[in-house]
Amino acid sequence: MINIGIYGASGRMGQEIAQCLKGLNSARLGVAYAVDEIKHHLDKDVLITDELKTLFDNSDVIIDFTAKEGTINLINYARTNPKPLVIGTTGLGDDGNALIDTASNAMPILWASNMSLGVAVLSHLVATASKALREFDIEITEMHHKHKKDAPSGTALTLATSASLARGLNLNDVMITGREGLTGERKKDSIAVMALRGGDIVGRHTVGFYNDGEFIELNHTATSRATFAKGAIKAAIWLVAQPNGRYGINDCLGF
Ligand code: NAD
Repeated sequence: MINIGIYGASGRMGQEIAQCLKGLNSARLGVAYAVDEIKHHLDKDVLITDELKTLFDNSDVIIDFTAKEGTINLINYARTNPKPLVIGTTGLGDDGNALIDTASNAMPILWASNMSLGVAVLSHLVATASKALREFDIEITEMHHKHKKDAPSGTALTLATSASLARGLNLNDVMITGREGLTGERKKDSIAVMALRGGDIVGRHTVGFYNDGEFIELNHTATSRATFAKGAIKAAIWLVAQPNGRYGINDCLGF
């Protein structure tokens, strides 16, 4: 039985992961780490802590869904106390990303902006379409609930990266995240990523390929956070058996 530690146990994803772990035969929730009060019910045998040492000592693998600062603290602690880490936190920036690269020399780390199978497949479809439809303009829209703190979403950036790589472009050179005023005509290679926020939308991403006379839109809609939670648990169970290194959700899913 694998002991999973949740880092960010009081959050929306932390709660969902705790729920999805109930009744599993291969893994259990060993320890729940939170910096604030956990308002949802946890089984009596789950350790609740706000100390990283307790989290690390009682987990075979740790799942992190927090915020940039939290993830950086977690990785820095893990650099002297290596432990398999599944990281779902988005908005880490270039510095957070570089830290994962360095730390993954000492432990297996899987980071994914989206833990769902559907988005992993969508990302492949986007790469294929971006190459095949070279003349089409790419515009990405993402919609999330009103509480989301970062924009554009990590998933939208992953999809935009798939599109730009497939066209041999550097995303930093071509990405647009807003338009206002006299913007001039759209540049041919631009990849727009627009964020909408409202209500309780779990996550909706549309990658559109627009040409004169026709367009294609590829859409993924998450209707439940359980999709991400189950993906993260699957990744955690898989990761404990992997050597040190950096992984993505595709590695775990086998494509
Ligand atoms: P949330 O706001 O509901 O929960 C965040 C949790 O992180 C809380 O428990 C909070 O106490 C904790 N936290 C915040 N700052 C911290 C710090 N400095 N140290 C330790 N803990 C800290 O958010 P959420 O909806 O659960 O999302 C969390 C993250 O996961 C976001 O970055 C979100 O974009 C990402 N996310 C990723 C996926 C995916 O599939 N990869 C899916 C959903 C959400």
